[in-house]
Amino acid sequence: MMNSNLPSYFFHTFGCQMNQADTEIMGALLQAEGFQPAADEDSAGVILLNSCAVRENAVDRIGNFLQQLKGRKRRKKGLIVGVVGCVPQFEREEMFTDFPFLDFIAGPDTYRSLPAMIIRAHQGSRLAYLDYDHRETYSGIDPVRSGTISAFVPVMRGCNNSCAFCVVPVTRGRERSVGFDPVVDEVAKLCASGYREVTLLGQNVNSYRDAESGRDFSALLDAVSMRAPEMRIRFTTSHPKDISESLVRVIAERPNICSHIHLPVQSGSSRILELMRRGHTRQEYLGKIDMIRRLIPDVAITTDLIAGFCTETDEEHRMTLSLMNEVRFDTSFMFYYSVRPGTWAARNLPDDVPEAVKKARLQEIIDLQNAISLERYRQEVGRSVEVLAEAESRRSSAELMGRTGGNMAVVFGRDRFSPGQFVTVRITGASSATLTGVPV
Ligand code: SAM
Ligand code: SF4
Repeated sequence: MMNSNLPSYFFHTFGCQMNQADTEIMGALLQAEGFQPAADEDSAGVILLNSCAVRENAVDRIGNFLQQLKGRKRRKKGLIVGVVGCVPQFEREEMFTDFPFLDFIAGPDTYRSLPAMIIRAHQGSRLAYLDYDHRETYSGIDPVRSGTISAFVPVMRGCNNSCAFCVVPVTRGRERSVGFDPVVDEVAKLCASGYREVTLLGQNVNSYRDAESGRDFSALLDAVSMRAPEMRIRFTTSHPKDISESLVRVIAERPNICSHIHLPVQSGSSRILELMRRGHTRQEYLGKIDMIRRLIPDVAITTDLIAGFCTETDEEHRMTLSLMNEVRFDTSFMFYYSVRPGTWAARNLPDDVPEAVKKARLQEIIDLQNAISLERYRQEVGRSVEVLAEAESRRSSAELMGRTGGNMAVVFGRDRFSPGQFVTVRITGASSATLTGVPV
């Protein structure tokens, strides 16, 4: 359906891959009701911010962005501005006090109402849609995908853990999984329409469970990889306490499942891990790493790390550094702790590590990770690796950029190849973040 009276929409998406996938779902819901995407922000009648609340600086970014939109809203009569996603779910109606020009706010379980929200906002209502719907998975909606080579497929939403620092259980609600067969069918469809890579997404992907049959994430990964043998299969994020030997065996056995596991550890100190309520100790984490490396010797392991969590001592910080030295992660996402309202830590623990100390510890973590990554990447020099070409490199149209199965970025001479092709590349150089090479 196309309706020229409806305003065109433009999304700004912040945060994780799940938010990117949600934007694609919202695009489909809007287009099904006749809304059309705008070519750019200037020509849009509705501007939507899909927001992230996981760290304080992510929330600040949304605030700064909204301040800029305030002027645009004043200049352009009838412009509608809405904030969707995790920030409104935890800031709630307070957002209207901080940003009085906002037309509506909507949490992650309410996107089916987005077309109606826009129409009502157009008629002058100011709306807050913040209900949780613990059965909502958006199953059956065909997302308006932004890429043609790689696709995200959310397989579960929400999180039943209660990590002390994390706002996700508040913003995204209880865990629920998409049905087994719809996921497998969607991946098969992507494969048939020429996609070369799929990433199965969930906050805690390995606690996936099909509500009807009880089948778990190893069964899902197995079925998906068999139905789309020409596609690369990735998945994120795995929780250390839920990663099982049966899951790792599936990854080891199936050539099209990438040998890459993102396994956030957060800290190297068992006392801090307990305070974080992560459900495992340092030793147990290292035990999982041993099991994974025994079954998949060439596996890439990446992680998330938080510096300066409540009461963390210098010695406990050094335990994080020593764990990094022991595991030798390929890469890491590294953050310093920021209090999130509504979390267990905000209610029960003192945020007592001074900001300057948090930042200094984070810098040490970053420096160490860069050194380890450089060493890991240099080990690839001289090897031939399979790369999925994704795009032209940023530097030159004579070069392509792609990724290895272990998720290392590779830039190589274009030769006769195009984005979307699998190319065997001999690695000739390495920095701590990129490999360079030539096709063979
Ligand atoms: N579900 C994943 C897991 O269990 O590891 C991660 C989800 S969270 C959106 C992504 C990362 O953000 C976390 O692994 C953690 O390192 C970081 N993070 C979450 N809350 C944080 C906070 N309050 N301060 C700093 N970093 C935080
Ligand atoms: Fe947040 Fe922990 Fe759930 Fe990950 S597992 S989303 S860190 S509560």
